[in-house]
Amino acid sequence: MVPMLSNARSIVAILSLSMVAPTFAAAPAGQSPYSALAATEARVAAIGFRLTTANAAWCPVTQPQFGWIWGDPRLYALDRRAEALAAYRADDQNHAFIAALAPDSPAATAGVRIGAPVTAIADAPVPNGQGSHPFARITAIETSFAARPVGTAIALHIGAARIFSVTPVAGCVSDFRVEANDKPGAVADGRMVLVNQGLADFAADDEDLAAAIAHELAHNILRHRARLDAAGVDRGLGKQFGRNARLFKQTEIEADRLSVWLLAGAGYDPTSAARFWDRFGQRKGRPLLQASTHPSWRDRVAALNAEAAAIAAARAAGQSLHPPLIGAPPPLE
Ligand SMILES: [Zn+2]
Repeated sequence: MVPMLSNARSIVAILSLSMVAPTFAAAPAGQSPYSALAATEARVAAIGFRLTTANAAWCPVTQPQFGWIWGDPRLYALDRRAEALAAYRADDQNHAFIAALAPDSPAATAGVRIGAPVTAIADAPVPNGQGSHPFARITAIETSFAARPVGTAIALHIGAARIFSVTPVAGCVSDFRVEANDKPGAVADGRMVLVNQGLADFAADDEDLAAAIAHELAHNILRHRARLDAAGVDRGLGKQFGRNARLFKQTEIEADRLSVWLLAGAGYDPTSAARFWDRFGQRKGRPLLQASTHPSWRDRVAALNAEAAAIAAARAAGQSLHPPLIGAPPPLE
């Protein structure tokens, strides 16, 4: 959604730099920026769980969804680590922990608490992750869970002695992550949706934030990253030009269209997408020149309104909803 962030290398750079020292300034006076981050993770966990699980029947590929977002003490510089962990009431400096839980999700109903240090999963050590990337361990944990069967209980060992049995439900493919970055942006890489703190702060409410997250989730459901790569599209400097830009724009239009149906399928107001992107398109500090990879915000709002109208018409006629694109998106060529 934000062209500057859609390059994989820039994502890595931003993640590495900003988690150790949050750059966002939106935390209310007296509130730790880490508490603001934890609060956003709770919102994103709830919205992500609802969007992925309510729409599971529409998704061509599913994965187990637990309703959690993971945390890791390694995300934080040593001199800020205790302050960061306090936001989750976590005091274990070594183990990955549960940073957020969606209400009524499998993890929440199993009794796992936020801040709980996870010492083993299904009697095996918690995956450690490869390399020095701050999110390496969380990525390894998420990837291992995504490969498990839906509906099969998993024993989660918390601390030295407690074991919780968590049975995931089917959901569309995606894990969710919040980045301590004050730019109002988000990224979908095919496996996860990353939401910046700045985007959550820009959203007026959870309907707004759900609209933005549904757009990113739609990119993953429609496998845009993999399909753009397969089409040989340049995600670097060349993305602004010619065929690259045209195919990027096609994926943006597709994500917008599907996002409205994902909102409706999860019980959100489908008109919230047009409302959100209208405001986003006119936000202060936006790039003055329209990127060639995205339609203009006026075109986006018109297209989003058209999808919401199609949903309203189907509902008024008593028809079940059939989202576009999911079965057979047009080729990227
Ligand atoms: Zn997008």
